[in-house]
Amino acid sequence: MEFHKAHNFSNYNQNLNANSVQKLCICERKRNDLIVCSRCNQSFVGRLSQPCPKHPEVIFLMDARQCALCGAHSAFLKVSKQ
Ligand SMILES: [Zn+2]
Ligand SMILES: [Zn+2]
Repeated sequence: MEFHKAHNFSNYNQNLNANSVQKLCICERKRNDLIVCSRCNQSFVGRLSQPCPKHPEVIFLMDARQCALCGAHSAFLKVSKQ
């Protein structure tokens, strides 16, 4: 039965790709990012509030939702890559 020796991996690869799309949990990411405020141009150390792709319902109260110095909305905040 030569037919069974034919290699056809295309379907196999498609399934593999679909399974490898995993949501990354960011709940345990580090809390000492340097956050820069583009409104007051100052920076502070903390963690920018971001919904976890895997646990969007979890809220961390200690995460920065606004600038610690001028109170600007989190849209003004950026994590500095240093
Ligand atoms: Zn998470
Ligand atoms: Zn600010």
